[in-house]
Amino acid sequence: MGFLEKNIDQALNAHEKGRENMEYSPDSREVGRVLSVARGVAQVQGLGSVRSEELITLGNDVPGMALDLLPDSIGIALLGANTGLRAGDEAVPSGTVLSVPVGDALIGRIVDPLGNPLDGGPAPETFETRVVESEAPPILMRAPVDTPMASGIKVIDTLIPIGRGQRELILGDRQTGKTAIALDIILNQKKGDVVCVYCAIGQRSTSVARVIDTLRNHGAMAYTFVVVVEGDAPSGMQYIAPYAATSMAEYFMEQGKDVLIIYDDLTRHAQAYRQLSLLMRRPPGREAFPGDIFYIHSRLLERSTRLKPEHGGGTLTALPIVETEAQNISAYIPTNLISITDGQIYLSPVLFQKGMLPAIDVGKSVSRVGGRAQPKAYRKVSGDLRLTYSQFQELEAFARFGTRLDQDTRNRIEHGLRVRELLKQDRFSPLSAAQQVVILWTVSLGLLDDVPLEQIAEVQEFLLSRMEESFEPMERLVQADTKDEIWDELEKTVTHHMQKWREAHAAA
Ligand code: ATP
Ligand code: MG
Repeated sequence: MGFLEKNIDQALNAHEKGRENMEYSPDSREVGRVLSVARGVAQVQGLGSVRSEELITLGNDVPGMALDLLPDSIGIALLGANTGLRAGDEAVPSGTVLSVPVGDALIGRIVDPLGNPLDGGPAPETFETRVVESEAPPILMRAPVDTPMASGIKVIDTLIPIGRGQRELILGDRQTGKTAIALDIILNQKKGDVVCVYCAIGQRSTSVARVIDTLRNHGAMAYTFVVVVEGDAPSGMQYIAPYAATSMAEYFMEQGKDVLIIYDDLTRHAQAYRQLSLLMRRPPGREAFPGDIFYIHSRLLERSTRLKPEHGGGTLTALPIVETEAQNISAYIPTNLISITDGQIYLSPVLFQKGMLPAIDVGKSVSRVGGRAQPKAYRKVSGDLRLTYSQFQELEAFARFGTRLDQDTRNRIEHGLRVRELLKQDRFSPLSAAQQVVILWTVSLGLLDDVPLEQIAEVQEFLLSRMEESFEPMERLVQADTKDEIWDELEKTVTHHMQKWREAHAAA
């Protein structure tokens, strides 16, 4: 074995070891005493050998996690309702780092971050546990993203494509459709082989119930599970939720599966951590967040990746959601997350009010690695589309001043208006790659430039229904290297259908 191989081997072995939940025996069964309890945090004295993130049982069976290891006391985040816990109560270390049950039985279930069922069913029948904060796979085990995670949403798949193993941030103000996009992406995995995880952090129970209803009504619970911690849960539970959900997701990734995880949302997660830190008297920094706030999100998202084929080839794609205030994407938590992820989808309240749904601001959105995974056929349409669309946005802003415009400029604006109209998409109406490519190719060719704006949606429906039989065979073509003849053929077909549509309309 050469020097390099030896080093690689060592690194991989270290990773394997790190994944096991190594037990240790606490010093002569030491038992600590609670010094004080306040809002989900307890200070405990007398536990000299406790490890960080170790599970500790306090007083009358209240679970807690060691978070702050100080020389003479330990700060513990409570992971359950504080039922009569008082100063002087016992604190018993478990000797194990906090871990969660993982297994196939999770699919279709709704659980809390510790794996307890919240759907009224029995506890999921799992045979394994994983530590909540397991280490991210080392670089040596990772491969570049190369397979698309189809969203079914035209503007995303064309201009901001997501690849399996990528981390793409969804950010925007309140009520701009962040959750809607994430859900649509889950629903679009229906025909595929992706396991989906929706992790709800600190939301109101009505919002969570609505999400679960949507997943159930669309048959998505067959391949999805939900990890929920509501806004009134102890901060400690909110803090561990995304890590626990990721551990559950990693179980599937390590079996070579493709997994999609949504964190809705990390703003609440950061706030929970801020609350814990302030209660533990850590010094506050910018916007009152503690100094290590960047690290809590980077080590979470570092766990999403695509594994090399020799490690099973599984992927974990993460779509963290973060809420902005008054469109301020340069606030502390959003900028942190933008720098950690491989791109962002920015939702604008202005576009939302104008009815431009999904309200994705293409200019402020980007996907830094997904392009490599995008099916080839999209490239034929996307480059052109992005350019004409951004030129159109500039021209449109300019035209607002009432300047007299030449014919060429007016044509470009008319074309851009049609592109924008076509990028609108209702919820729950995913389109396959072939369908998207046909629609976008039609507008790129300029075949819609003479169609009145309010009829664009109708034309789309017309084309989709007329070409219904061709989409299935086309699907394979779109994924492969497309040849020019196919495009010529397609151009002929759509031109023919558009002719038919015009005739029908002229007659009507
Ligand atoms: P919050 O900040 O409360 O979490 P959010 O940003 O997650 O909100 P959603 O709850 O997803 O936003 O959506 C807000 C509203 O907009 C919902 O009523 C949803 O039905 C509607 N909506 C979102 N996207 C679309 C769309 N593409 N077409 C029509 N309606 C939409
Ligand atoms: Mg939401």
